[in-house]
Amino acid sequence: MKTPIYMDNHATTPIDPRVLEAMMPYLTTAFGNAASRNHLYGWEAEAAVDEARQKVAELLGCSAGEIVFTSGATESDNLAIMGAARHYRERGNHVVTCATEHKAVLDSCAELEREGFEVTVLAPDAYGQISPEQVAGALTERTILVTLMLANNEIGTVHRLGEIAAVCRPRGVVVHTDAVQGVGKVPFDVESFGVDLASITAHKIYGPKGCGALYVRGKSPRVRLSPLIHGGGHERGLRSGTLNVPGIVGLGKACELAKAELPEESKRLRRLRNRLHEGIVSRIDGVRLNGYPLPSIDAEGNLEGPEWRLPGNLNVSFGGVEGEALITGIRDVAVSSGAACTSASIEPSHVQKAIGVPDELAYSAIRFGLGRFNTEAEVDYTIGEVVRAVCELRTAGADPTDRRPGAIRAADPPQSG
Ligand SMILES: *Cc1c(COP(=O)(O)O)cnc(C)c1O
Repeated sequence: MKTPIYMDNHATTPIDPRVLEAMMPYLTTAFGNAASRNHLYGWEAEAAVDEARQKVAELLGCSAGEIVFTSGATESDNLAIMGAARHYRERGNHVVTCATEHKAVLDSCAELEREGFEVTVLAPDAYGQISPEQVAGALTERTILVTLMLANNEIGTVHRLGEIAAVCRPRGVVVHTDAVQGVGKVPFDVESFGVDLASITAHKIYGPKGCGALYVRGKSPRVRLSPLIHGGGHERGLRSGTLNVPGIVGLGKACELAKAELPEESKRLRRLRNRLHEGIVSRIDGVRLNGYPLPSIDAEGNLEGPEWRLPGNLNVSFGGVEGEALITGIRDVAVSSGAACTSASIEPSHVQKAIGVPDELAYSAIRFGLGRFNTEAEVDYTIGEVVRAVCELRTAGADPTDRRPGAIRAADPPQSG
């Protein structure tokens, strides 16, 4: 087993070797510009982009003409939110989102506020969900856009997106979803969920960094956007700039693999994730699960009820230990604190705050992101590391006179594993 074990797959994923293999020719011999119309180099690049576009469309359940390639999900979110709001400004100036969104969404909404839009930021429940009724209650005559992520990147909560979109669309409100963490991990397609705009990125689904896509609904209704980047008119004028052909090929291959492997892979990840949780809570106390309760599953990993949490996500806090110390303590496992994207700040993450995790526990939140290349042996090793580190830190900080439940005290030593 190679250490450090990578268990931070919400932050990024390694490139699948099959993805790299598909990309290689376009980094070497087939280097053409997909917009070159006069020679073979251009044609082969264009053909590769067309094929990739088709594969992305198949994963999202749309047609190829509805895909716009971008530099990643940050750009896709910016284009969707600012592009739609600016285009539909005549209709209204109100946008609805949720407090647990990624910064790419929250900061795009903040930019809209500076431009005079009004933004309602809905507060989630203790599991990180918002209800269709909450969204319905927030809509006004002036609402033009609702932006709500498919699944959260810290606590893994999956939104009731289909039900929420059903509230919005009859009222002519455009629905955008940041689908980055959910796509390829939980069932999703733009038709049955009824969304108009969806952001994805290659590097969260075992593709390369710096390449993403935005789904833009082409009919019933056709959704229009004001572009952010102006130039040669690539991507139907929505995103000018020479196409990143190798990146796009990688994104296409990553989408194809994600679609083909989702049913089996989600079962495998559920089993590993539940094993990791069980292994930790059976050996130490004072562990808090942040986000939605884990689904019950059978021995194969099949669901025995609904699933509102990403199969590979576990987010837990440990009473009486400090998060940074713990992450340093489990040095052979690469994980992150809840505050992954803003790890420079010492504040607990905005997501933990939004779901009401008490400060002292929010600081000790650890996000485990299990992915395609994690094994059962790695999970068992991780359990041992976490239990050891928590015990050591609790012993170091233990106050033997403190009798509060789950407080700073040494835990029982690990039994095995
Ligand atoms: C990673 C992530 C992004 C940003 O994607 P990039 O391609 O890195 O810009 C946006 N939203 C969510 C939910 C993410 O997890």
